[in-house]
Amino acid sequence: MSSIFSSVLTAFLVAAVVCTAANTCTTVYLHRALSHRALTIRPSVAVVLRAVLWLSTGIKPKEWVAVHRKHHAYTDIEGDPHSPVLLGWKKVQVKNVALYRATVLDPTTIDRYAKDLPDDRWDKLFFGHNKTGLLSGIAILMIALGPWTGLLAAFIHANVYLASNAAVNALGHHFGRRPYDNRATNLQWLAFFTMGEGLHNNHHAAPSSPRLSHRWFQVDPGWWVIKTLTTLRLATVRFSDIRLTATAKASFN
Ligand SMILES: [Zn+2]
Ligand SMILES: [Zn+2]
Repeated sequence: MSSIFSSVLTAFLVAAVVCTAANTCTTVYLHRALSHRALTIRPSVAVVLRAVLWLSTGIKPKEWVAVHRKHHAYTDIEGDPHSPVLLGWKKVQVKNVALYRATVLDPTTIDRYAKDLPDDRWDKLFFGHNKTGLLSGIAILMIALGPWTGLLAAFIHANVYLASNAAVNALGHHFGRRPYDNRATNLQWLAFFTMGEGLHNNHHAAPSSPRLSHRWFQVDPGWWVIKTLTTLRLATVRFSDIRLTATAKASFN
């Protein structure tokens, strides 16, 4: 009995570490660096972040970037890949992956929104093969923890990662505070789960800013990671101050 308890506990702890790593790479690399060019990360560090994403999510960066840039181009209007205004927040929360896949399968999405991200040699060798990445990640957990504990850790991580990222698109455009005049919302509790992404109203107000916390009481753990990288000279930020869009400047209250 105690060995089952310790296996389950181990699975939860490892899943928490893997999910935090995946969410860190998602917000810092996929979102702030690649999608918005809010920071530039040294190639030697970027390849590590890409490897973590490949093993823990199987996401192809150019696909994620294209879907996200389309979301910014059509936020909460016809054309938005995952708008709670158009579809309802429950549908976006539950069907986020299906909505993502449908957008990626449209050949115009990558052409129009990720032209600047052609496959490089790393993609050709590893990162373009997303199923291989995911299966390798699961295999590593099974070898390191034992087959059942490893599978359980992978299962917990997959569910938490998918649910928390869906929540940014669903809850983060429906529930919460709107200090700036846009449809996105700030949810600090969600920002703790997603390394800052829950401060989504701030992000839509200043998409080119690498920092998502705009007030002293807001917490953006992804920004701490970026600060560490810049202090170590492993990354540079495009703007050191927060650049609000014209609409956000006019509407801030
Ligand atoms: Zn949004
Ligand atoms: Zn964005």
